[in-house]
Amino acid sequence: MKANDPVYIAGHRGMVGGAIKRKLETLGYHNIITRSSGSLDLRKQEEVDSFFAAEKPAYVFLAAAKVGGILANNTYRAEFLYDNLMIAANVIHAAWKHGVTKLLFLGSSCIYPRMAPQPIKESFLLTGLLEPTNEPYAIAKIAGIKLCEAYRDQYGCNFISVMPTNLFGIGDNYHPQNAHVLPALIRRFHEAKMNNKPSVTVWGTGTPRREFLFADDLADACVYLMQHYNEREPVNIGKGEDLTIKQLAEHIREVVCYKGEIIFDAGKPDGTPRKLMDVSALRRLGWKHSTSLKEGLVIAYRDFLQQDQLKLHA
Ligand code: GDP
Repeated sequence: MKANDPVYIAGHRGMVGGAIKRKLETLGYHNIITRSSGSLDLRKQEEVDSFFAAEKPAYVFLAAAKVGGILANNTYRAEFLYDNLMIAANVIHAAWKHGVTKLLFLGSSCIYPRMAPQPIKESFLLTGLLEPTNEPYAIAKIAGIKLCEAYRDQYGCNFISVMPTNLFGIGDNYHPQNAHVLPALIRRFHEAKMNNKPSVTVWGTGTPRREFLFADDLADACVYLMQHYNEREPVNIGKGEDLTIKQLAEHIREVVCYKGEIIFDAGKPDGTPRKLMDVSALRRLGWKHSTSLKEGLVIAYRDFLQQDQLKLHA
């Protein structure tokens, strides 16, 4: 991938696509192609086909997806399945048809079986039942991985897949109900602090364990793999370290400087008990994260405050 190659980032307005764009710009890539979802609907095959025919990207980062937290995944099950299937199928097919040199597809750690042994190796894909709350999203992402493999097998396309762990960072969604746990808790702790509430409620039992990677680190890994990895097997992207939701809540309480109590609502779903990535393949390929959870949380809280200010003045 050279600095003047046309590189298309699908989903550049999302947290991941935005981080990939920043990374590429920092590295001097100056032929980056983007489209908002308003001007190109990736769920529409003809629109995607015309776009690829006109723009002829050489490299594609497929970071566009309908995403959300446990509640959103479980509520909008049809949309999570349909939208993500269509995006993956249309973009991957068009990339083959229009001769894209290389494509990187972003999967997710939730594609692995609910009760997968820990840490989760790439080879555990399709060895057991999925977590029911995010099964539609996972099925769509698994289809994306299989599309990359099948287009490689049949047509020789250099399409690779990566499986990021739970992500957070600049441009995250801080919706109180539909967001992922980390940004949702940043909002909840901040609002409790501003309103002098005595306690904050965290969903579930607090015992599930999760791993959290800063989105700019993920972007760095994606660009690294685009430059150095050309194999069929998906690659996990994570830190190889996890913590409980209770510990996460305590870190966020500290970063937000909230002094009240934390209460757990066991009536809300816990989801998968543990989701820790085996990152030995990534380490062998020569990549490691650089942002600690604490550093990332400080940046994310600042990002939340900025988004909040922008909304107030909108
Ligand atoms: P996600 O973060 O919602 O995408 O989903 P996960 O399957 O990784 O689960 C998040 C974990 O955090 C679950 O155990 C939830 O019960 C717990 N959790 C605690 N509070 C919240 C919250 O406010 N929002 C979300 N999404 N999860 C929460």
